[in-house]
Amino acid sequence: MKHIKDFSLKELEEYVAGSGQPKYRAKEIFSGIYKEKRKNFSEITTLPKEYRKELAEQFNISTFEKLSEIKSTDETTKYVFKLKDNSLIESVLIRKENKYRRKMSTLCISTQVGCPLECKFCATGRMGFKRNLATSEIIEQFLVVEEETPLSNIVYMGMGEPLLNYENTKKSVEILSDIHGRNFGRRRITISTAGIVDKIYRLSDEIKSVTLAISLHTASQAKRNKLMPGLSRFPIRELLKALKYYVRTTGNTITIEYLLINNFNDSQEDADNLIEFAKEIKFVKINLISLNELPFMNYRKSTRESEFEKYLLNKNLRATLRKSKGTDISAACGQLATNIPSTQKST
Ligand code: SAH
Repeated sequence: MKHIKDFSLKELEEYVAGSGQPKYRAKEIFSGIYKEKRKNFSEITTLPKEYRKELAEQFNISTFEKLSEIKSTDETTKYVFKLKDNSLIESVLIRKENKYRRKMSTLCISTQVGCPLECKFCATGRMGFKRNLATSEIIEQFLVVEEETPLSNIVYMGMGEPLLNYENTKKSVEILSDIHGRNFGRRRITISTAGIVDKIYRLSDEIKSVTLAISLHTASQAKRNKLMPGLSRFPIRELLKALKYYVRTTGNTITIEYLLINNFNDSQEDADNLIEFAKEIKFVKINLISLNELPFMNYRKSTRESEFEKYLLNKNLRATLRKSKGTDISAACGQLATNIPSTQKST
């Protein structure tokens, strides 16, 4: 059976027209699901009774199952969801204050079960790739968590590579931000990519107003090939062109994510390479990320984190060092993986 949350408003309008109903019914359905949060078609009382029945026969509307919810000492919460095919995915709720001391609740959502990219520092990459999430499965992570906690931001930084599930990622943004649906502001949505160049062009043209983050981690091609072998078909020069295109077309600032790894990408030369790359983009800020050392990896976190940050600041770059949250519950960046045995020994 089809899931109603796989349909954008436009697609729903086409369906509704095809079933002989006036087009505005699609907006009524959308509003019933995303504004009034109805979980049964029978409760969408703006629709004629007969039509509610017909929809219930045609479409699934249900929300998916929350398997567990684990809270960290720093208030970060990890949700594990079980999908229809028994796959497990994770979303992480991060609470922090912004610079104006306002409480922010950011939900980090997944777009794939596993990931095909095999980045050497990432647990999701290690579990391999199972499948893309359906649009409804991307949206449901948000809807289920929002029932308990008002959310201020969404980041597509959970399991998987959003731009390798481009169509469903795009549609999930369209649905959540649609004024007839949840009406969630696109400026509060960030899509993070490891660097799928052709899709960065498409995103710039097609998913207007969302913020883009790029997991760069090194501006040296040789080092990137080592660290992120799945990206070697997208050379850094091409990536840079695409990022400049994004800035030119959208006028937005790009966030560069840079994991600091000891004696790998934390020297002054590495910083200079990064600065050169960032200055080309112009509208850019840099998030330096403290590496979570996971049992399977040979990398260690940098001992020069603050030094590296200061060096960038002195060269007039906007740089912030980020400490991981939720490490104690395996909810931190790079720790999301649902089928790695916990007994796995370090290599
Ligand atoms: N595939 C997308 C979305 C996943 S985001 C992307 O690569 O951007 C995952 C984020 O978590 C990335 O910024 C990555 O740098 C970070 N991350 C992955 N492994 C990590 C680790 N071991 N320690 C800290 N951050 C990690």
